[in-house]
Amino acid sequence: MTYKAEYIWIDGTEPTAKLRSKTRILADGAELPIWGFDGSSTNQAEGHASDRVLKPVASYPDPFRGADDVLVMCEVFNIDGSAHESNTRAPLREVAEKFAAQESLFGIEQEYTFFKGSRPLGFPEGGFPAPQGGYYCGVGADEIFGREIVEKHLDNCLNAGLGISGINAEVMPGQWEFQVGPLSPLDVSDQLWVARWLLYRTAEDFGVSATLDAKPAKGDWNGAGAHTNFSTKAMRENYEAIIEAAESLGRDDKPLEHIKHYGSGVEARLTGAHETAPWNEYSYGVSNRGASVRIPWQVEVDQKGYIEDRRPNANVDPYVVTRLIVDTCGSALEK
Ligand code: ADP
Ligand code: MN
Ligand code: MN
Ligand code: MN
Ligand code: MN
Repeated sequence: MTYKAEYIWIDGTEPTAKLRSKTRILADGAELPIWGFDGSSTNQAEGHASDRVLKPVASYPDPFRGADDVLVMCEVFNIDGSAHESNTRAPLREVAEKFAAQESLFGIEQEYTFFKGSRPLGFPEGGFPAPQGGYYCGVGADEIFGREIVEKHLDNCLNAGLGISGINAEVMPGQWEFQVGPLSPLDVSDQLWVARWLLYRTAEDFGVSATLDAKPAKGDWNGAGAHTNFSTKAMRENYEAIIEAAESLGRDDKPLEHIKHYGSGVEARLTGAHETAPWNEYSYGVSNRGASVRIPWQVEVDQKGYIEDRRPNANVDPYVVTRLIVDTCGSALEK
């Protein structure tokens, strides 16, 4: 007998990489082998030397196929064994290892928008819906668009064993959020990518697409972010570590260094309006949804917990944002 393994990887499309996947049939009991693909079709190679290597790094039960079938997250390598330049997981492995003793945890809030054809789901043909106000965490057919897809996606993530921790309807019609974590840097990133793959795959069956575009509708509509919640063991135990982490993200050239890698179109989303801070001014504050970094009110009350970096775009690469935060805050907390 056999089982099906869906090998998933991240391609080399600029400025925002895309997910790719293909199926391998394996004999029952066989381990997941390394595999190859045509990198010239994924912006990862030239045609004359097109072979690239897929190396399985995590696998999950496949909620679409069967109990024995799996989804396989992969890293991309060159045939000489070096990590491909599009492989952002490889540098995260090193930084995560370096700061492992700090026991970093991340919870990422993934916002996204459903599209039907060229319009956000719920936007009437040739017009606009009522302005924002009633949609966030709303209920009813006049406010909610795509709930059957969202529920199915949630079940698929849970059946895949992902550490998804919640969902909610967002501020714009057709816009939603799910949260993954708290988990270690590598786990939260692998699982967020797989949850994104499951989102596209689930919506596909409904004839709907999902986008991580940070500004999917022009005008007075909220953008889509990926608020990144972060703690170390020290931050989960004392408030000085919370403040030091928030301070460290604002020191020297850190704000720009981070922003540059927080997703494509980040300046267009971080305008200072729509619950954002301007991209070129770093700030942090308790309870403040207009700051770059928010310390939740409960964290101030408890004098321990986590901080929320509100800057990353919905289309951010979690391997990159977790690496930057672990490195910046980890180095500061080490002192
Ligand atoms: P918001 O109020 O900003 O919408 P959410 O409830 O959507 O917050 O998301 C909060 C996220 O923070 C969740 O993913 C949760 O798992 C995560 N989280 C909670 N505690 C911690 C912690 N100690 N370290 C890192 N992340 C955490
Ligand atoms: Mn072929
Ligand atoms: Mn949220
Ligand atoms: Mn949100
Ligand atoms: Mn948030």
